[in-house]
Amino acid sequence: MPDIHELPEQLSNQIAAGEVVERPASVVKELVENAIDAGADQIDISVTDAGLSRIFISDNGGGIKKDQVELAFLPHTTSKISSRDDLFRVHSLGFRGEALASIAAVSRTTMLTATQPGLGTLIKLEGGKILSETTQTSRQGTSVEVRDLFFNTPARLKYVKSVNTELSHIADILNRLALANPAIAFTFSSNQNILLKTSGSGQLLRTITEIYSVGVGRQMLAIENHDLDFKITGFVSLPKLTRASRNYVSLFINGRYVKNYALNKAIIAGYGSKLMVGRYPLAILNLQMDPFLVDVNVHPTKQEVRLSKEDELGTLITQSIADKMRAQNLIPDAISNL
Ligand code: ADP
Ligand code: MG
Repeated sequence: MPDIHELPEQLSNQIAAGEVVERPASVVKELVENAIDAGADQIDISVTDAGLSRIFISDNGGGIKKDQVELAFLPHTTSKISSRDDLFRVHSLGFRGEALASIAAVSRTTMLTATQPGLGTLIKLEGGKILSETTQTSRQGTSVEVRDLFFNTPARLKYVKSVNTELSHIADILNRLALANPAIAFTFSSNQNILLKTSGSGQLLRTITEIYSVGVGRQMLAIENHDLDFKITGFVSLPKLTRASRNYVSLFINGRYVKNYALNKAIIAGYGSKLMVGRYPLAILNLQMDPFLVDVNVHPTKQEVRLSKEDELGTLITQSIADKMRAQNLIPDAISNL
């Protein structure tokens, strides 16, 4: 057996990258989350060949100070938490400090960032190695270009699916991020075609209309409810507006998009027997709670979370929707009884 030795940093970053950067959509998610955490209210995303050739994301957020840019690309460097206690009250989307290092490790990455209009920092990396760092005029904010994703990890590249599949993953995650952030104006274009544009009006119903359609927007019911631990706001579709997939349910816990089977079931339960078998509602629900009740540090992508009072929350969701459906029925029933 050879002696045990530490892996070279670039190699260990590349291995770690596999956990965070599974496909082009993961890069888009991480970079847009960074832009959101930076306080941007305008985020533009464009991809070429579903992000395999190029991903470009620019924001008008706070930017990164010149002397911190290199640091941001090291693994486990973050400005968002500093102590163990912070981990239990995470308010930002990021906190693991892995995304930039991971993305840079498996691509050719360029970032231009400035904390105010004027001179910004331009850094270029390839396979995690810094090629150059210079100064360049810039507006305030950050733009990141990721080229040739997985160029140095052929095994990962093999797992990437067709351009259409990868593009639909990107569109899906951007829809959720836009729904979670109605006050941010998003544009997303793929090979020069605009696929998504939200106005950043701050109104969720308007964002729903912009993402789905005016027709969908007209058939959504507002939900608002709370108990001592949880506050629920958002919109769910009338029972007659359904889809054949569960994909149109978006749950946000303290602003973070999460996948949670039990809570999804709780939404459907709220409709009682009003949904046909195999049909699912559209729902966009914001669930606010003390960060203490959520463990987001379960999985590197943070889409799976552990909730300490999941049953209570599920019941509240079901009840809120059921109450709304009951109230809603008064009118159509009254008319059809005439
Ligand atoms: P994390 O988001 O978990 O902190 P990242 O690797 O994604 O880790 O980013 C590292 C750090 O770089 C962030 O903590 C933040 O300070 C800075 N950063 C990254 N992207 C941006 C951005 N778009 N605008 C401002 N700062 C950024
Ligand atoms: Mg991040």
